[in-house]
Amino acid sequence: MPQLNESRKRILVTGGAGFIGSHLSDRLLAEGHEVICVDNLVTGCRRNIAHLNDNPRFSFRLHDVTAPLDVAVDEIYNLACPASPLHYQRDPVQTAKTAVLGAINMLDLARRLGVPILQASTSEVYGDPLVHPQPEGYWGNVNPIGPRACYDEGKRCAETLFFDYHRQYGVDIRIARIFNTYGPRLRRADGRVVSNFIVQALQGEPVTIHGDGSQTRSFCFVSDMVEGLVGLMSAGSGAIGPVNLGNPRECTMRELAQAVLAETASHSPIRYLPRPEDDPSRRKPDIGRARELLGWEPVVALDAGIRETVGHFRRLADLDSH
Ligand code: NAD
Ligand code: UDP
Repeated sequence: MPQLNESRKRILVTGGAGFIGSHLSDRLLAEGHEVICVDNLVTGCRRNIAHLNDNPRFSFRLHDVTAPLDVAVDEIYNLACPASPLHYQRDPVQTAKTAVLGAINMLDLARRLGVPILQASTSEVYGDPLVHPQPEGYWGNVNPIGPRACYDEGKRCAETLFFDYHRQYGVDIRIARIFNTYGPRLRRADGRVVSNFIVQALQGEPVTIHGDGSQTRSFCFVSDMVEGLVGLMSAGSGAIGPVNLGNPRECTMRELAQAVLAETASHSPIRYLPRPEDDPSRRKPDIGRARELLGWEPVVALDAGIRETVGHFRRLADLDSH
């Protein structure tokens, strides 16, 4: 189907009922576009998109991207894939299939339609990095047979497929390497560190730090991430990437726990648990390329983002107590 007009597009968001995908859908709808959200709800949920039910420019399709998809759209954002280690390790074969077959199916669709496609790749392609901070030119340090490999190698293979479809068939691709992103709509049972710490602090339960908490991550608030994704898509075929998107403010898990305890005014104790296998010890994006190509950089400070995210989990607790 042809584009409706110059500015209004019909856009496919796979993984659109998930954390980042639902915020991206909001943003695209706010710009006046149509959004077709495709999701199998393995880690996403209907609550994330419930506010869009009555929007005539939004539609939802329950579909697994490991199967081919036929839908007429002007642009594709491929976000479908569980992102939390807890969830992607639960069914590693399905995770690898989602990353690889999902990429093939969405690339085939983009090729058939002749439309641009953006891949939500990840800082996990750098594995446990030996170069710090991580620039896009770094090839990474990934254990190909460890418990994280279904995700890391799946996403690396997806990047390979994106570049091969680009070189072999001329598909118009974009690759965003997303670093740790957090914010409202994370699920209580998501299992990633920000939601775990906040939920534990609000419930007065021990805050679980893996190892001694000296490992680092760099946390990007979701509104900044959505800006970056939309900016990359609209930057055109001169900016295929890969482009790191993330907040270069690096922090230890101990610092994060302290920030969450301060914001929630919680007296939860800290409980130190064993470090998971292959848990990367340092991670911080070099965002020089995103600054240069997209004029993008994050604007939400960690404290402000944590405040918003704590607000989200307080509202969830209120909803569930009624
Ligand atoms: P999420 O788990 O909230 O969202 C993923 C969505 O994909 C969910 O709605 C899930 O139901 C859906 N999905 C999973 N497998 C599917 C399949 N086979 N078919 C259809 N739908 C499927 O995670 P998120 O944090 O919103 O991550 C979105 C994307 O961004 C993922 O591709 C992830 O790898 C990438 N990413 C996220 C982060 C982060 O910190 N949030 C970091 C790096 C990369
Ligand atoms: N982590 C932690 N406590 C938790 C969950 C995670 O200390 O309850 C640690 C985890 O070991 C890792 C960091 O927090 O060092 C980020 O983990 P997350 O699962 O959020 O993301 P990823 O490891 O994929 O970056």
